[in-house]
Amino acid sequence: MSELPRPAPRLNLHKPQSIKPRLTTKERGYDHRWQKTRFRKLKETPLCEFGFDGCQIGANHVHHRDHNPKNNKPENLLSSCGPCHMTYHRKSKAARLDNG
Ligand SMILES: [Zn+2]
Repeated sequence: MSELPRPAPRLNLHKPQSIKPRLTTKERGYDHRWQKTRFRKLKETPLCEFGFDGCQIGANHVHHRDHNPKNNKPENLLSSCGPCHMTYHRKSKAARLDNG
């Protein structure tokens, strides 16, 4: 009789998982002041600054270069369109460049 590798134990999907509740947008630093900062940034720099694949469309996201939502210094902010913002975060997560 040959020894077959035993299958890995199945995960019990009914077992309650410890889920850390995500902080609210306000708790993460996106408050009324952020809305004003964001609005000002998009007014100053209305086009996407990521420019992936030559993107030159209107920005509607504001990205924090250091990934700290509480650092709203002008040099930390980057206007972005939605697709480029998502592409950036997908790439940085995949490459583990995401230190912040
Ligand atoms: Zn873009």
